[in-house]
Amino acid sequence: GKFVYAFAEGNRHLKDLLGGKGANLAEMTNLGLPVPPGFTITTEACQAYLATGAQPPALAEQITAHLNKLEAAIGRTLGDAGHPLLISVRSGAKFSMPGMMETVLNVGLNDASVVGLAAQTGGEAGDRFAWDSYRRLIQMFGKTVCDVPGEAFEHAIDAAKAAKGVTSDLDLTAADLRALVDSYKKIFVEHAGRDFPQDPREQLDMAVGAVFRSWNSDRAVLYRRQERIPADLGTAVNVQSMVFGNLGADSGTGVAFTRDPGTGARGVYGDYLANAQGEDVVAGIRNTLHLDELEQLDKASYDQLMSIMATLEAHYRDLCDIEFTIERGRLWMLQTRVGKRTAAAAFIIANQLVDEGVIDIDEALGRVSGAQLAHLMFPAFDLDAAPERLAKGIAASPGAAVGTVVFDSRRAAEIVAADPGARVILVRRETNPDDLPGMIAAQGILTSRGGKTSHAAVVARGMGKTCVCGVDALDVDVAGGRFAIGGVTVNDGDTVSIDGTTGAVYLGEVPVRPSEVVQYFEGAVGAEASPLVTAVDRLLRHADGARRLGVRANADTGEDAARARRFGAAGIGLCRTEHMFLGDRRSLVEALVLADTDAARTAALAALLPLQRADFIEIFTAMDGLPVTVRLIDPPLHEFLPDYTELSVKVALAQARGEDAGRDAELLAAVTRMHEQNPMLGLRGVRLGLVIPGLFAMQVRAIAEAAVECARRGGAPKPEIMVPLVGAVQELETVRVEAEKIVDEVVGGHGVDVLIGTMIEVPRAALTAGQIAESAQFFSFGTNDLTQMGWGFSRDDVEGAFFSRYLELGIFGVSPFESIDVDGVGRLVRIAVEEGRTARPDLKVGVCGEHGGDPESVHFFHAVGLDYVSCSPFRVPIARLEAGRAAV
Ligand code: PEP
Ligand code: MG
Repeated sequence: GKFVYAFAEGNRHLKDLLGGKGANLAEMTNLGLPVPPGFTITTEACQAYLATGAQPPALAEQITAHLNKLEAAIGRTLGDAGHPLLISVRSGAKFSMPGMMETVLNVGLNDASVVGLAAQTGGEAGDRFAWDSYRRLIQMFGKTVCDVPGEAFEHAIDAAKAAKGVTSDLDLTAADLRALVDSYKKIFVEHAGRDFPQDPREQLDMAVGAVFRSWNSDRAVLYRRQERIPADLGTAVNVQSMVFGNLGADSGTGVAFTRDPGTGARGVYGDYLANAQGEDVVAGIRNTLHLDELEQLDKASYDQLMSIMATLEAHYRDLCDIEFTIERGRLWMLQTRVGKRTAAAAFIIANQLVDEGVIDIDEALGRVSGAQLAHLMFPAFDLDAAPERLAKGIAASPGAAVGTVVFDSRRAAEIVAADPGARVILVRRETNPDDLPGMIAAQGILTSRGGKTSHAAVVARGMGKTCVCGVDALDVDVAGGRFAIGGVTVNDGDTVSIDGTTGAVYLGEVPVRPSEVVQYFEGAVGAEASPLVTAVDRLLRHADGARRLGVRANADTGEDAARARRFGAAGIGLCRTEHMFLGDRRSLVEALVLADTDAARTAALAALLPLQRADFIEIFTAMDGLPVTVRLIDPPLHEFLPDYTELSVKVALAQARGEDAGRDAELLAAVTRMHEQNPMLGLRGVRLGLVIPGLFAMQVRAIAEAAVECARRGGAPKPEIMVPLVGAVQELETVRVEAEKIVDEVVGGHGVDVLIGTMIEVPRAALTAGQIAESAQFFSFGTNDLTQMGWGFSRDDVEGAFFSRYLELGIFGVSPFESIDVDGVGRLVRIAVEEGRTARPDLKVGVCGEHGGDPESVHFFHAVGLDYVSCSPFRVPIARLEAGRAAV
């Protein structure tokens, strides 16, 4: 196979093969930009190396051929004593993994070529530069290729400075550095068990192997897991002739952006450091200059850089970031890529590029994501308040949480139980299922260990709770009730603020600013309020025009329905009715269960009817003119009854006192009778409706009467009655026949249309969808239950219990309760859509499980041809955006 590509042979679309850096170096080379010549060793070579532990046989030959061409092009030879070529060897994977993998610079220096390098440069300065470069090579090569501990070299250079009584590396002379090279070589032998390789080709081959191996370094593995980057991609290796920014005042190095990556504003953004190499900028050894100031230092290079930046933006049609070096007045481009940016800048830049005529609005829609929009919908800390940042960890679950530090989960729960207004931040090394009560009570969770798939992260995301995890710098002393970060000690009871969107941890209470984007959706600010809001407004409107999927909301109250409508929902896809049986109404439910005569049962239902009718009127009014899918009562009835243990104790105590437990004893008998081992698979959904006479009938009547009342008031209610947990058409048919009778009786002559349909959330329903469609006017996929029953995973228990392990093992990359399992549960959906529509071509099909608001799942639902998705009101804009993106 072909394992090596000259830069001129590649292009930016070959990221899989050449890595991001290699593909972009190739693109710049072909654009005629000044790129130091070189070649890229492919990710396939890396994969072969990692599989066999040796470089593939053809690789050595191909490297030789490309190296020869490189030497000919530059007119120098690797390791030559007179005119040495020096090269850099850098990793470059498909996805950028900042700081995760290895780089070796100055390859090609040895005892002979160091002299040639000195002569090339000239003078005492040349001598110094050459010996400094050589000692850097031994140090970098020793550390990255041969695992020599870095401190050994650092001690040696410190000793050299101490002996001279100086503090800066710059005060070491050529002779000092030459002596340091000798010390370094000794350190190298001592730790590596061999001499520093003098053969430049051996240096190159060893460096390439080290870059390959760095793909599997612990930190790279951890990073990939966190970022969900596949483990088998491998890295490419870029071999490039060196250019030097540290040859004097007419040299330097810098980074630049074609626009501001924070705000998207056009202009000149970047930093420059004269007489320095790339690492110096990163290390922050000296203060950098603003890029503008380069114009005074070297106008020719500055003008050339500006023109190259314009070329790159025009070519990539997006914000680019750039690394460059100036060697003695000559500009070289070392790297470019489409630049990372904040979520806000992503929207603003996409919108700007449309205004500038660079991209069309379809493409702009592709440049933003629902995840970014979600980001912008969380309240954020007001950083103008300049809070003291203690540390940065992994942004595991978004949001801005403030509270007092508590180290014990039980105590966190107690504090909040005693004072519901109390705000606590639970701080742990890591969490486990025992911490659940504390996690529920806390505003946010902070841990020192674990990544985005740790228990804390998975559970917090599931609960929608802010979480920052893996703060390595955090030294948690649970017993002592304190933690230390850097020099600061934070005690139990002190206040901290954690930002689950950025991973930052602040001391004290940082003020929280509401989301401007949410304010815009709420109608509190107009689309002109800021460039961000303008961009969100425009892109969302375009998404609305483009999308094929409707977007509805899951809302159970008039208030939620009204918010959903403001956020752009075209109706309600799921109105759960369970809450209509709780609160004050619980005693009516108890009466219903205890009823031993028809009369008692009828009385209890009759009392519930007007209350539920009023609820429905409120909801239909908020959604006037738009469809509202009302689901008949679903969860197990025991959830509406008193707790079994509490009631048993109460009754036992009464009996011990010789009292008559009365109604409690009756209730206890009912609760005992209805107790289930697996309530989620027990008496719930349609089963309940079939077992308790009159229950569904009462709800259907309340819905129909509410609709008639709304119509009478001049409204246009569009109720849709949905039966939960159907597994067989016979269940639905029984309910439908009864419901239709009531509907006809109530709405007859009032001009109200009531649809009757079903949820598809039991696997058997999906597999018999053709039969079920005969009896249903619509389907709505309950992907929560469909996932639970499809996988056999309890949706209430597993996320904290073993999902973090499953994620670690890669059994799935993301919880199937969060993003639809396309292969399994998705297949059930696909089958049901096809068979349902075959049986009834005008069948309306939607989804109302949590997946309806998940960006990736929305693309799947678009692809299988659903009519709409339904999700929580806050997710409605996200679903609108993603549905639009799926369609363009
Ligand atoms: C579902 O199962 O996906 C669903 C929407 O219903 P619930 O979550 O109420 O069970
Ligand atoms: Mg369900």
